[in-house]
Amino acid sequence: MKTGFSKRCITPPYGIAIGGYFRPRRVKGVLDDLYARVVVFDDGESYATIITLDLIDLPENMFERIKDAICDATDIKREAIFINCSHTHTGPRFGYDGATDEESPEYYNEFFVNNVKTGVLYALDDLKESTIETAKTEAKRIAFVRRFRMKNGKVLTNPGVGNPEIDHPLSEVYEGVHLVKIVRQGGKDIYMVNFGCHADTTGGEFISADYPGQLCKILENAIPDTHCMFLQGCEGDVNHHDVHPSKARAEVNKRRADYRCSISEYMGRVLAGAVLSVASLTEEVKADKLSFKVRIVDLPSYQQNEKLEEAKALYDLYRREGRDALPYEGMEVETVLGEASRIIKLENGPLSFPYTLSAIKIGDMVFAGIGGEAFTDIGNRIREDSPYENTVVCCLTNCTGGYIPTSVAYEEGGYEARSSKLAPGGDNIIVDGILDLIKEL
Ligand SMILES: [Zn+2]
Repeated sequence: MKTGFSKRCITPPYGIAIGGYFRPRRVKGVLDDLYARVVVFDDGESYATIITLDLIDLPENMFERIKDAICDATDIKREAIFINCSHTHTGPRFGYDGATDEESPEYYNEFFVNNVKTGVLYALDDLKESTIETAKTEAKRIAFVRRFRMKNGKVLTNPGVGNPEIDHPLSEVYEGVHLVKIVRQGGKDIYMVNFGCHADTTGGEFISADYPGQLCKILENAIPDTHCMFLQGCEGDVNHHDVHPSKARAEVNKRRADYRCSISEYMGRVLAGAVLSVASLTEEVKADKLSFKVRIVDLPSYQQNEKLEEAKALYDLYRREGRDALPYEGMEVETVLGEASRIIKLENGPLSFPYTLSAIKIGDMVFAGIGGEAFTDIGNRIREDSPYENTVVCCLTNCTGGYIPTSVAYEEGGYEARSSKLAPGGDNIIVDGILDLIKEL
């Protein structure tokens, strides 16, 4: 197997809308640059490429534009393109941004698409004979399930650090780190790191790749002659808030006020530490042949027209008087706004939407890609039932999908299930569909 790597800067210009919150934000400066990182695989008969983007997500048409550009410029087949977003909340929003009510400007869209394509061309120029090794480990206490049962029986997402009304988290976090180490003859090694947690530690109006960027920087410094890329795993119900922090962790949170990267740096260090703990213990996997498949499935929409009037009234109030006029606090504001905007958008359908499943198999190893922000349990089910020991599960891949809650989460409530455009039961279609696809490779 030959592999090539490249990295291109995609940091947005001043003033561009930043995606991630209901509040409008615009680029005012740069804490650290955003990158598109590209690995190309070549088994002598065909190519496949895995691209990671320091972006919150991409709209459907931007995934397609990148694929068009790559297919026009190279011999890489469309189904062999695997694009994963890190979900940083301090990066641009391509396409429509609800908070600023603006579309990303075409000159920046074009710059971005061209740059990603150029990255693939450079990676093709960098092909080197390689062996592939893997290891699994854990990164402890940097990711936490963010959905809680409160003492009054309610379910809240992000109820707040130290909130005395918290009873227990609704599920268990998956702290697994999957390392794919590509050892290359006459070239730098490539470390692909898969872990699942929201990349939303920084906030504000300064650009940052958040903890995935810190991880790459720290690893590349710790192991000379190494390229690193981060593949976001299932993170829909997981983020960095430790609701019962140690004294030292509480200090890290506090430092964020004047040194905004303190939490992402902390997480990047823990994650890099986990990778370093197994970096010399990787085992070679068979990596002779490439195969790849993409399938589009239909997912049911979560239309709730019985709640339409209520939703419209709430959204009107928000548009007229701002979020402070709403009779809710903290994350409950995001929850009711997310729910209202979902109900309004789906008033006239569609009753279902297309959703892309992607899989690339390299010898005995599989990269499984699903769109949107899947809950932890969905990743667990795919890993457990996949016939391949090395199944790297990535969300935010090759299509948008919003939150992908488990069926049981709808009964529980909370931000993700109430705002998701996906109706209950969609998780089973995704899990069954991706497992079928993996088995067909
Ligand atoms: Zn999210």
